[in-house]
Amino acid sequence: MTLALSLLDAGIADVNIYESAPRVEELGVGINVLPHAVRELSELGLLDDVSGVGISTDGWLLYSKHGQQIWSEPRGLAAGYRWPQLSIHRGQLLGVLHRAVRDRLGREHVHTGHHLVRFGQGTSGVWGECMERRSGASLGHIEADLLVGCDGVHSVVRRAQYPDEGPPKWNGITMWRGVTEAASLLSGRTMITAGYFGRHIVVYPISKAYENQGRALLNWNTNVKTADDQPMSPQDWDHTARLEDAIAPFASYVFDFLDVPALIRGAKVIYQYPMVDRDPLPTWNFGRVTLLGDAAHPMYPIGANGASQAIIDARVLAHELALQQSVEAAVAAYDAERRPATAAVVWANRGLGPLEVLQIVEHRAPNGFTNLDDIISSQELQRIATTYKGTAGFDAELLNNRPSLSVPR
Ligand SMILES: Cc1cc2nc3c(=O)[nH]c(=O)nc-3n(C[C@H](O)[C@H](O)[C@H](O)COP(=O)(O)OP(=O)(O)OC[C@H]3O[C@@H](n4cnc5c(N)ncnc54)[C@H](O)[C@@H]3O)c2cc1C
Repeated sequence: MTLALSLLDAGIADVNIYESAPRVEELGVGINVLPHAVRELSELGLLDDVSGVGISTDGWLLYSKHGQQIWSEPRGLAAGYRWPQLSIHRGQLLGVLHRAVRDRLGREHVHTGHHLVRFGQGTSGVWGECMERRSGASLGHIEADLLVGCDGVHSVVRRAQYPDEGPPKWNGITMWRGVTEAASLLSGRTMITAGYFGRHIVVYPISKAYENQGRALLNWNTNVKTADDQPMSPQDWDHTARLEDAIAPFASYVFDFLDVPALIRGAKVIYQYPMVDRDPLPTWNFGRVTLLGDAAHPMYPIGANGASQAIIDARVLAHELALQQSVEAAVAAYDAERRPATAAVVWANRGLGPLEVLQIVEHRAPNGFTNLDDIISSQELQRIATTYKGTAGFDAELLNNRPSLSVPR
């Protein structure tokens, strides 16, 4: 959806979206859109719409498994960015983007129920064939100048280019996700992470509507390293889980600012998903075919970067298509810019990214601490936070001052 809006904004209106699902449904739970991606949504004229549903996150606090504070940093506008960090329901974000696509491009450009099954290319164009997934009925032949595989972690387009790659890689961590209505947490706009890697919870509010009523809709995501002999849970975003399994690892996480078992118990439905990613690829440049978002660079949801990096991909690709002499040159330029940048985030997330501090504290002070300074210095804390922001492309100064990706017309 963001790619379609970006192309239109760059003067390319002959765009069609082929979506496997029979309807565009507002699925999922919470997601974070970091300031570098909010800037792009803002330049597409969507800031008011996304800010109207999500929460402008103002800080991130890290706690040990004993609920002792390890780190706090301002986020978004509070950290000096010109754009907020938005914590938002994934479905509502999709809803904003989908409505904009329908209004600006036209609903006839969104072809739901079209599952891409095969494609090929010649010197002057690409072709694709879609089917209706449930019936298996063929939906005919499509021709275009460029095919962009934005088809997620199980991408058909990626598999056709890398047939031997196999399934996504699991790091042994299972994630449980849910949303719970609650009293507002700390500042009401705070994101918190507590525990240590492999036994940690991330919590943040995601709903402006709840905030307006003095309440909070808290998105939570628990992460547990399961025993090595346990099988991976299904890689299906809609796979639901049992309450007891989700609560058990966090029974002791009862803090004065947050009762984790009560939070989990309050969710109407709990989803389960394995933490998976894939190795960075040697190229996304296949002439008139390329990849974008999770199809190109699925990454662990550490540092909240998956959706943000997909949005930036879309803006860069549209920018290059508008400015380069040919489709092939644009794809090559997009690949050269975005592939190394996103590979760095995939690797950083495998190295725990900003969560490294939790690991250090758990390792050095498993029974808690009296003075944090005795366990980890403020310089070490600062170094870890700053390094990750640079890698993921959301250093405030660089972001605030870099030129726009909008194409002057
Ligand atoms: C149902 C769902 C729920 C999710 N919930 C969360 C969440 O709660 N929190 C979170 O952090 N992340 C969630 N994610 C992942 C998150 O959306 C992505 O990591 C991120 O936004 C990158 O987006 P993407 O567009 O690259 O991939 P995705 O959001 O995965 O979108 C890929 C799209 O391609 C479609 N598709 C797949 N194969 C084909 C095909 N052959 N032909 C046509 N269309 C195809 C899929 O139906 C899907 O709509 C969810 C993804 C999905 C699909």
